[in-house]
Amino acid sequence: MIKLTDVTKTYEAGGVRTEALKGVSLEIEDGELAVILGPSGSGKSTLLNVISGLDTVTSGSIIYNGNELTEFSDTEMTRFRREQLGFIFQQYNLFPNLTVLENIQIGAEIGNEPLNVEELLKRVGLYDLRNKYPWQLSGGEQQRVSIARSLAKNPEIIFCDEPTGSLDEENSKQILAILQELNEEFGTMIIVITHNTGIAEMAHKVIRMNSGQIISNTVNPVRKRAR
Ligand code: ADP
Ligand code: ADP
Repeated sequence: MIKLTDVTKTYEAGGVRTEALKGVSLEIEDGELAVILGPSGSGKSTLLNVISGLDTVTSGSIIYNGNELTEFSDTEMTRFRREQLGFIFQQYNLFPNLTVLENIQIGAEIGNEPLNVEELLKRVGLYDLRNKYPWQLSGGEQQRVSIARSLAKNPEIIFCDEPTGSLDEENSKQILAILQELNEEFGTMIIVITHNTGIAEMAHKVIRMNSGQIISNTVNPVRKRAR
């Protein structure tokens, strides 16, 4: 479980002070698929960045499995991020000169108990494309490679920032279906920032932000957690 208590984040840049997070408290359970919604500038990326250790908090506490993440040293945080967290962005960030298979193997090499790469390829419908290069794939296919790569190391948590932001509706639906299936099958905690309301429907928890605060946090009674 992740538990945030009264987290604030203030940016100071060029004399400008921005309170990006103003006292955010929140819990996300193991195996949960949580969605963060909110208008541009409301603090969604900042929230994701502080939970995933890409950025530090100004004050407050973030406890993950009994560890206070805000007290991790740089080395501990790097190791935690590398071994236990997966990231999926709007841009697919694939290695252009590696094949689909090789891109996913890179992910597996980082993990402690990596998943079987061939099985993963089949799970995301890419087995027949395993020897292609990223430029030979559609956007939706590239995003599936990116998902398989982050899942290969068998992370505790996958963070997604607008994973369907560059995709049309059909491909977005496919990506959503895959994220939901993987969450159910592997019990991986998935935290997604999105404007896509389809993702909100399949989430266990929907967190709405505005001006650096959580304005609502609802649990979907229809969806049961995997773990
Ligand atoms: P969202 O992801 O909801 O669009 P962000 O978390 O990116 O919102 O931004 C929240 C606020 O913090 C915005 O006002 C944004 O301009 C500001 N902000 C984000 N990152 C930085 C930064 N590195 N330096 C200064 N201000 C920032
Ligand atoms: P925006 O919120 O403006 O749409 P992005 O979605 O591109 O911005 O990025 C959200 C956050 O994730 C930013 O703080 C950015 O620095 C970070 N980020 C984006 N891509 C990567 C990456 N490949 N590796 C690490 N951090 C990234």
